[in-house]
Amino acid sequence: MSSATHQCTCGAVLRFKQDLEKEQGHTTRTWKCRDCGTPVPGQVAERIKHQHPS
Ligand SMILES: [Zn+2]
Repeated sequence: MSSATHQCTCGAVLRFKQDLEKEQGHTTRTWKCRDCGTPVPGQVAERIKHQHPS
């Protein structure tokens, strides 16, 4: 399985669950960059959030 990464506009490379910050709405969940709060595209976040550093 290949790993997903996402380069945020702030320059941070998001690789693992802990790089994301979850914002729980009533019907939606939004994942954001932990550093700057920019929303991460849902499909990418779904992959990243299952990744843990080993
Ligand atoms: Zn960021």
